[in-house]
Amino acid sequence: MLVHLCCGVDAGYFLKKLKEDFPAETIVGFFYDPNIHPYNEYLLRMEDTKRVCNKLNIQMIEGDYNYEYWLKRVSGYENEPEKGVRCSICFDISLEETAKLAKKFGHNKISTSLLMSPMKSKEQLASVGKMVKRVYDIDFIIKDYSLKGGHQKQQQMAKENQVYRQDYCGCIFGLIAQREKNGDNKPDELYSPITRQILPASIEERLQLYAERDKLEEKNIEFKIIKENFLNYRLLNGKVTIQKKTIPSYILFYSYLERKNGGRVEFEKDGIAHLNRMQIKFISLKKFNFLLNKNYNSIYEIIKKEGFEEGYHKGKEEGLKEGILKEKEEGFKEGILKGIEEGIREGLLKGIEIGLEVRFGAEGLTLYPIIKKIKNVDVLEAISEAIKTAKSLEEIEKLCKKFYSL
Ligand code: SF4
Repeated sequence: MLVHLCCGVDAGYFLKKLKEDFPAETIVGFFYDPNIHPYNEYLLRMEDTKRVCNKLNIQMIEGDYNYEYWLKRVSGYENEPEKGVRCSICFDISLEETAKLAKKFGHNKISTSLLMSPMKSKEQLASVGKMVKRVYDIDFIIKDYSLKGGHQKQQQMAKENQVYRQDYCGCIFGLIAQREKNGDNKPDELYSPITRQILPASIEERLQLYAERDKLEEKNIEFKIIKENFLNYRLLNGKVTIQKKTIPSYILFYSYLERKNGGRVEFEKDGIAHLNRMQIKFISLKKFNFLLNKNYNSIYEIIKKEGFEEGYHKGKEEGLKEGILKEKEEGFKEGILKGIEEGIREGLLKGIEIGLEVRFGAEGLTLYPIIKKIKNVDVLEAISEAIKTAKSLEEIEKLCKKFYSL
């Protein structure tokens, strides 16, 4: 059974229950969620779901992040409410892809962890399931494990395993609507500085946090993720001007700088200039380099280098993944060759066993345990041929002794 997975929280409990209900099934997870925005949030949920699958000993396949395709398909329905037409199309996209992959790999059933979410319409999911049956001839397994206290158990399981718990469904349209409904006007998850600073409570910071969790877990070091509330802020835009001329700057912003602030430098000490307003400070490039132990020649270089470093780390990660895949592929090929060789060996042994019995009766079979220890396929082939023409069992025995060491 191929199971579409949406996030670690839903996948964990859903897969656990499926395994209990379908003990004879080989269950494979499929993380296909091009609806999740921004990409770092997608990565966060994907890595978390992979961790959950590993814990349950379930293989997980990652689908394509074809976000533009998703956007095109939901185009015109951006303002639909949750459980509306956009969500229905969103389910179609995920389950169509799941059905196609299931067909390719020979699975005859699919399901989705979306069935765990109280925010999803079960009727909509069921009607997508009917389409899957009609078009792809694949059964859609509908299980509502959230009933009879299931939802509470699911939350408990996620808490115990310190799984990442997101606070929006996934797409940008749902997120904006949710924030508006709650009276917050800005989806701050979607803002990240072009200077690549990793801001508190940002998705980028969460990615680092959960990567740290995984490292600790690998090393068997105990840890606890604690939730904290604090003042969250984002810089929507900012520039520094002197006499109307904008000067290149790298802004480390304050939470309470809400609007345009002007002033004059009151005094300068140790490379730090203090403005007479709002405790604003200017740090010279020299001081900046000194504080951070860097060697930048200009503001442009800071921005470029930060970008380079991020790109470098991303590239390294991708390279590593590709390397692992290559190794896996090599291993797969080797496995096939080994399998073929083992198959031939087993076939030859079977033939030898029958040949010994047919030609020399029960006595002939006394040689079989010795022959069984021979690994070399060529030697087994020679013995098999010899059995057909040998005049006595001794002849075969001599041959075996000669080759036994091979
Ligand atoms: S709100 Fe959720 S289900 Fe609906 S379209 Fe957005 S991501 Fe898909």
